[in-house]
Amino acid sequence: MPLHARSEVSTNINDDVYASTDLSVVMPKYKMAIYEHSAAHAYQVVHDELMLDGNARMNLATFCQTWSEPEVHKLMDECLDKNMIDKDEYPQTAELEARCVQMLADLWHAPEAADTMGCSTTGSSEAAMLGGLALKWNWRKNRLAQKKSDAKPNLVCGPVQICWHKFARYFDVELRQIPLEPGQIGMTAKQIAQYCDENTIGVVPTLGVTFTLQYEPVEQINRALDEIQKKTGLDIPIHVDAASGGFIAPFLHEDVKWDFQLPRVKSINASGHKFGLTPLGCGWCVWREKSDLPEELIFNVDYLGGNMPTFALNFSRPGGQTAIQYYNFLRLGREGYRKIHQACAETAKFLAEEIRKIGAFDIVYDGIGGIPGVCWTLKKNGHPGNFTLYDIADRLRVRGWQVPAYPLPKNREDIIVQRVLIRHGVSRDLAKILVDDIKASVGFFKGHPITTPLNEKEGTSYHH
Ligand SMILES: *Cc1c(COP(=O)(O)O)cnc(C)c1O
Repeated sequence: MPLHARSEVSTNINDDVYASTDLSVVMPKYKMAIYEHSAAHAYQVVHDELMLDGNARMNLATFCQTWSEPEVHKLMDECLDKNMIDKDEYPQTAELEARCVQMLADLWHAPEAADTMGCSTTGSSEAAMLGGLALKWNWRKNRLAQKKSDAKPNLVCGPVQICWHKFARYFDVELRQIPLEPGQIGMTAKQIAQYCDENTIGVVPTLGVTFTLQYEPVEQINRALDEIQKKTGLDIPIHVDAASGGFIAPFLHEDVKWDFQLPRVKSINASGHKFGLTPLGCGWCVWREKSDLPEELIFNVDYLGGNMPTFALNFSRPGGQTAIQYYNFLRLGREGYRKIHQACAETAKFLAEEIRKIGAFDIVYDGIGGIPGVCWTLKKNGHPGNFTLYDIADRLRVRGWQVPAYPLPKNREDIIVQRVLIRHGVSRDLAKILVDDIKASVGFFKGHPITTPLNEKEGTSYHH
C-alpha cells in the first residue's frame, strides 16, 4: 500500500510495524489508536515516515539553516519546555531576547541601540506583519492628526516575498508591487515616485530578493523618497525586509548603506533561522526608535512582578531559538559570522564559475554582493537535448538535490531561472559534487533528447 494514497484506502488502514518484537503489532494510520503503543514502536513508525522527506542538507532551495553544531542541539533540548511568553516564569529567556534585540539594533546602527524596541518572532513573516502593522498605525495617526478622511492604505515594494502579499491581504493594505524593468531584477529608485501617494504607509525594499538573491538599493530609495518629500511634502518611511541580508550585509558588505544609518529606515526584519544560524522558528523585528513603534500595538505582560511590553502575533512560543540566537552571538561574534558567510560566498562564486564553464547556462547572479548563492538561466542556444531548467531540476532530484526552477516576477516572467543557496554546511565539497551532477544531467539529455520538455506548470516550482 503506497504510504500516501489516502483516497484509495479504507478508513481503517493498518500498517505493519516491523520493529515490534512480536511482529504482530499494527497501528492505524488515519484514526487515533484506541490503545497506547510502546514508545519505541511509535518512534520507529514516525521515524520511517520522515525518512521519505527530502534530505534537508541537499535542499538548496531553502534559505533556512540545515546544520547546527552539537551545543545547539543540547541547548534546544534544555529549552524544550521554556515558553517565550511567560516572562515571569522564564525571566532569563526574556532577558536573552532583550539582549539580542540590543545587539541587533547596535549591529544595524540604531541611534540609541540600548533603548530601542524590538522582539523575537517565529520568523521574518511574523516580523513583517509587525513591521507592516506599525507602518499602517503610524500612517493612520498622521492622517487623523491632519483631519483627513479614511482611505485605503498602500505599501510600495519590488518583487517581495510572499509574506508581504499575506500582510497586505490580512491587514487590508493595497500592495503596489513595482514590475521589473527590462534588465533589472529588483525595484529601482527612479520607479518609486509614480507608485507613492499620500496613502503610502511605507516602502519595503528587500535586502536579498528571494528570486535572485541581490540587494535592492535601499540608499538610493531613501534618496528618492527625500526628493518626493521635497516635491510633495509626503514623508514616507522605509521598512527593510532583511530576512537574509540582515545577517549577511553587516559582516560581508559593510560599505552598503541599508540600515538605520539611513534616516528613513524605521524598522527592519530578519530571519534568525536563515543566516542568523539558529534552528527553525526564529525571526526579529527591530524599530529605529521607541517612537517608531505605536504604543497602541504594545501589550504589557507581567514580568517579575513588573511589566514587560510585548508585541507579537503568537502567545505561546518556544524559547530555545532565542537562547540559541544569543548563543550564536556569543559563540561566533562578528568575526565568526564573517568567516562562515565569507566561506559560503566563496563557495557560491566557485559554483557560479563552474556552472558557467558547462556552457549551457548564463549566470544571473554569481554570489557576489548579495546573499551567498547562484542564480542562472538556460542559454537560448547551445544545449543539445531540448531540455528546460525544470528537466534539470527533475534530473538533479534523482540524486537527492533540490534545486528549484521558476519564472521571475511580473514583467519578466518569461525568464525562467534556477537558484541554489549556499548556507553554513553546504561545503565546497558538496558544491563540487553538485557541479558534477549538473554536468551529468546536461550530458544525459544530450544522449536522451527530450521530446516534451517539462514546463513551469508541471515542473518543480517550489522555492522559498
Ligand atoms: C524567507 C523570507 C521571508 C519569510 O521569512 P520566514 O523567516 O521564512 O518567515 C521574507 N522575506 C524574505 C526576503 C525572505 O527571504
